[in-house]
Amino acid sequence: MRRLTLAALLAPLSLPAQVDATLGRMTLEEKIGQMTQLTIGALPDSAHLRQAIVDRHVGSILNVVDTALSLDGWHALIRQIQDIATKETRLGVPILYGIDFVHGANYTRGGTIFPHNIGMAATFDPDLVRQVGEVTAREALASGLPWNFAPVLDVGRQPLWPRFYETFGEDPYLAATLGAAAVTGMQSSGRVAATMKHYLGYSGPRTGHDRTPAALTERDVREHYLPSFRAAVAAGADAVMLNSGDIDGMPVHASRHWVTDVLRGELGFQGVVVTDYADVAFLHTRHHVAPTMRDAVRLAINAGIDMCMTPDNYDFADELLSLVHDGIVSERRIDESVRRILTLKSKLGLLAHPYPAESDRADFATAVSQAVAQRAARASITLLKNDANVLPLKKGAKILVTGPGATSLTMLNGGWTYTWQGTNASLFPPGVPRLLDELRTRADVQYAESAAEAASAARQSDVAIVVLGEDAYAEWIGDIDDLTLSEAQLRLAAAVEATGTPTILVLLEGRPRIIRDVADSARGIVMAYWPGMEGAGAIADVLFGDVNPSGRLPFTYPRYPNALALDDHRFTETLDRGFDRKPTAFNPQFAFGTGLSYTTFAYSDLQVDHLKVRVTVTNTGTRAGRDIVLLFTHQHYATLAPPMRRLARFEGVSLAPGAHQVVTFTLTKDDLAYVGQDGRPLFDPGQFDVIVGDLTRTFTVDP
Ligand code: BGC
Repeated sequence: MRRLTLAALLAPLSLPAQVDATLGRMTLEEKIGQMTQLTIGALPDSAHLRQAIVDRHVGSILNVVDTALSLDGWHALIRQIQDIATKETRLGVPILYGIDFVHGANYTRGGTIFPHNIGMAATFDPDLVRQVGEVTAREALASGLPWNFAPVLDVGRQPLWPRFYETFGEDPYLAATLGAAAVTGMQSSGRVAATMKHYLGYSGPRTGHDRTPAALTERDVREHYLPSFRAAVAAGADAVMLNSGDIDGMPVHASRHWVTDVLRGELGFQGVVVTDYADVAFLHTRHHVAPTMRDAVRLAINAGIDMCMTPDNYDFADELLSLVHDGIVSERRIDESVRRILTLKSKLGLLAHPYPAESDRADFATAVSQAVAQRAARASITLLKNDANVLPLKKGAKILVTGPGATSLTMLNGGWTYTWQGTNASLFPPGVPRLLDELRTRADVQYAESAAEAASAARQSDVAIVVLGEDAYAEWIGDIDDLTLSEAQLRLAAAVEATGTPTILVLLEGRPRIIRDVADSARGIVMAYWPGMEGAGAIADVLFGDVNPSGRLPFTYPRYPNALALDDHRFTETLDRGFDRKPTAFNPQFAFGTGLSYTTFAYSDLQVDHLKVRVTVTNTGTRAGRDIVLLFTHQHYATLAPPMRRLARFEGVSLAPGAHQVVTFTLTKDDLAYVGQDGRPLFDPGQFDVIVGDLTRTFTVDP
């Protein structure tokens, strides 16, 4: 009854007027409830739900209880929640339910599961990333979930970090381009909100451990970590989630500078700012910047947060109420946040349509979704090494397959798959193939588990495939102290290689684990990241040449655990330790952008004229393929030591054998500028290079 009254009352009004009308009727307690978000695990039954929604006026709920729900399960849960919110509360404001669909509908059973972002980054294909965002949002809506806590826009500049795989790689321009595409895709229907996360600097912890301090300067943050958020704001992201760690000692969710001055002021963000899991309390209990919970709430509110993921208690609401009563926080400040939250609810259509729509179910796990997942997995696979064209495999070859990744589904899908950690294979839909299954459909395959068995079987085989990597993990559960791949896996690979049988390493991993000891003797190395539910087929297709690989490494793959210089390193990082200090020290296992094809491409005729760059790319091989043209810039001399190269543009080009295409890029002075020591863009005129493949052209830009 009451829901109809609210909907009927609001229907004739414009969106801002609807919001103001609702806000105007709210008590302070109801407003603060809108700013409070609880996890469903803390609300195990209808009594707890009623207490949260009716008595405590909670406005938002998130998450699953341990495992993914079925579509029916989600519909029943959301209906129960919205029934309480719309029929049993005074104003009938619906709940905004948030979920981590970080690589597809990973918390709905049978949902489409895409490669993690690190694999999506390897596609260098914004249009594909946009489509993945669209499918993810459609499946979220089919599940009745209008708010996605994705995409992760943290830039992967610390390979130890256990959330590296959630990033679009190390390069700010790539992460910005793909992040904006993800936001555009997810929000394209207007009925799902994307959340840029985790603003800001979360991915740069000094130790590499999750939620530990980032020792970054303001300049570094602005140069490397801010661009992806800037681009996502420009793409219209509806929400942002804040970093759980601190930058240079200041937890971001307590920082007025980063949240209000920069995010809202400079970037112009107008959406909802939500804190991460228990983070406000952590200002007191972990960061120790607030002597009490009350101080923690005051700091976070002053910083500019709108909603607190408490996630399982009412301390935030109680403290905030008392801060307002005591005149320390103004009701106007509360109104600002509640207006943003109600605006989002209204914009998503929740006020008029709070329930999951039966008609949206048809969009779940469709053939189209699956085709996009397959395309994404195929496009992500990155061929890092292919000595003497050991790949593609001959169809009649006798193949030994070994390694933990060959028989594991969780190593294909990684964290955030049906459970937070992604390690429960029993939840996967029946019949999902493992890599071994896919290889068996294509060739005479023998599988061996132990190193001894594998070595003796390798001797009887034409070729050996060793599938190595990491099993699934998420967040701090995946913290490590050494990037080196596990000893047992390295020993297995070494034992197989020692037989002399040509060996191919397939890597299923969320971050670059050091493989130096087995990389040189391997004839082929295929990086598959965590490619998702279509991953096994995609890898097999690449190994057998049914798909010509086109992925490019979106990060620098280190050769040594402590040699972690990135692609945009400085000249001094290239100097070796000889007396004459030759510039040969930057020597990663694989450079950013590495990616081979079964055809070959050549670049020619690189020209630059008034910042217009053109280059001809020719398919010089014998089969059709896709090349990704990467355009880097380099400044010869600048006020601050310039990087050796920075990615400025990229473009994917599909070419038939013998065909060529002229690719043009238009640069601006902004592309050549960088962040100065005052935190502002600085353009130093002078000499620059553009670099494409092994071609370089120098040009001068006047003031
Ligand atoms: C993670 C976020 C996630 C949130 C809700 C946190 O632990 O850091 O990325 O959105 O949990 O599940």
